[in-house]
Amino acid sequence: MMTTEHILHTARLNNNCPECYDTEGLEFTFTQIEKQNKFYKQAKKEVAEKLYCHTCKNIIYPVNWTEDIDRVYQYHKKQVHPKSTLLKLKSFGYIFILLGIVVIAAILFLLWNSSLI
Ligand SMILES: [Zn+2]
Repeated sequence: MMTTEHILHTARLNNNCPECYDTEGLEFTFTQIEKQNKFYKQAKKEVAEKLYCHTCKNIIYPVNWTEDIDRVYQYHKKQVHPKSTLLKLKSFGYIFILLGIVVIAAILFLLWNSSLI
């Protein structure tokens, strides 16, 4: 099982960083994990959010967010459109199912034919 991280939305903030007080370093990143194997892929329901400061190279955790950061966060959270969590078959998965149907059809056909004799 392979996992891919999709970046759904990023936003630069001009709020003060709680660590270094710089106003140009903060960036929100919203990501979603998608798991996949040969047959299908499926996105996880949870959207992970991260606030990173490019100036002091720190991840700013929600406990350290100021009210202003929280307000900006609420705003950007609404801009995030998560990927559907429905299972998506890949072409290999389709082929696999088609082959399955063909095999079952062939068996049924043989059984039906042999009972006629
Ligand atoms: Zn900083």
